[in-house]
Amino acid sequence: MGGKRIRLVLIASPLQGHMTPMLQLGTYLHSKGFLITIAHSEFNRPDPSKHPEFCFLPLCDHLSRVGLSVGVIKFLQVLNDNCKPRLKEYLIEIINTRKDNESIVIIHDNLMFFAGSAASELGLPFFIFRSSSAVFYPAYKIIPLLHQEGRFPAQDCLMQEIVPELPPFRYKDLPFMDRPIEQTLELIAMITPHTPPCAFIHNTVEFLEQSALARTRNRYQVPVFTIGPLHKMTRPLATSFLEEDTSCMSWLDKQTPKSVIYVSIGSLATMDEKLSTEMAWGLANSKQPFIWVVRPGSVRGYEWIEFLEQGLINEMKGRGLIVKWAPQKEVLAHFAVGGFWSHCGWNSTLESLSQGVPMLCQPFNTDQLLNARYLSYVWKIGVEIVVEREEIEGAIKRVLVGIQGEEMRNRAMEIQEKVKVAINYGGSSHNSLKDLEVFILSL
Ligand code: UDP
Repeated sequence: MGGKRIRLVLIASPLQGHMTPMLQLGTYLHSKGFLITIAHSEFNRPDPSKHPEFCFLPLCDHLSRVGLSVGVIKFLQVLNDNCKPRLKEYLIEIINTRKDNESIVIIHDNLMFFAGSAASELGLPFFIFRSSSAVFYPAYKIIPLLHQEGRFPAQDCLMQEIVPELPPFRYKDLPFMDRPIEQTLELIAMITPHTPPCAFIHNTVEFLEQSALARTRNRYQVPVFTIGPLHKMTRPLATSFLEEDTSCMSWLDKQTPKSVIYVSIGSLATMDEKLSTEMAWGLANSKQPFIWVVRPGSVRGYEWIEFLEQGLINEMKGRGLIVKWAPQKEVLAHFAVGGFWSHCGWNSTLESLSQGVPMLCQPFNTDQLLNARYLSYVWKIGVEIVVEREEIEGAIKRVLVGIQGEEMRNRAMEIQEKVKVAINYGGSSHNSLKDLEVFILSL
């Protein structure tokens, strides 16, 4: 560091899919000699005892009792309004006590936008860290554009007609379409950066999302570092808010190679009883071994799996495991796993790509519909499913045993190889992390 001491203040979002990559980024940068403070909300706080190398700064959000139940817009507003005063106070403290050779740099999660304005107000350089797919950002910006022009394309209309350099996603794949347009516009205005950062950091791999990344570079004219998949750039970290049920690993050891379907809809999505019952019947009728993560509270109206009737439980018995939370990265890396039925959150997508596992795509919202489109139409390693028991049964068999499954697996393994090249010495993600270090030192 040439005698310089740089404190990086990382402002993490309290969502699992955002917190994990932020802690991974912090771990990597700490290993390169940077001092790391993790500023976090009280709601879904990280466990400091698992990361002794970091300083932690709790920010009082008053959200612990309500969480996301207030709705995403209110949640983000309250989170950002409440966290700002303490962060600013802390930054002023460290600015006033820093020595000549010390500098302070902010890296904030894109949902913690208050930190960008706090940094600007105090004259500190700041980075925006984006843990969704890179295509998410130019994609949601199409919505205000269409609204201004009074255009209402058909659901299946390809958005390439409007932004030619983007992948072939449709109008209905755009994010935030599950709410009234006024709310969609409010949400987009909220999360669109008002002051450009000195750079963006994306948890993605350059070759996966070149066109979307080019759009961000053109629009902001600042460096865009593509340093993913971050879980492959650091040692394994304990970052789960829920306890992992590791019993599934010894169960997997007893299964035949590539025979198991792993099912998870991530940390946020919820389903109604009808959808969950169709999933259960599809799994039962496919007669394939499975691990199904049913997160407590993810089936609306139930604490856990009380919605399963006895007949269904009998059908599933002996063939699979239902767990509350799995060690997902280890599960996907296990030889017995042959397919991942997923909501297509970006972390899950990257974790599956890194292991060469083909996917069944059941997207719910945000960037998941775009990711599902990438998986099924661009990379061709996933099938989009409509959740009805017969279709699921067929899709599971297609992915695990059919010729189509074999072709998808071959393509998935090709992508896995390219990801390995990207993260190894001289690869795009490896180089981008090096460039990021140099860039931070130059500030
Ligand atoms: N995850 C896990 N165990 C589970 C389900 C999910 O460890 O049983 C992890 C998964 O590995 C991923 C994260 O939770 O890192 C989910 O992030 P993603 O972006 O896929 O979806 P989100 O939860 O944000 O919708």
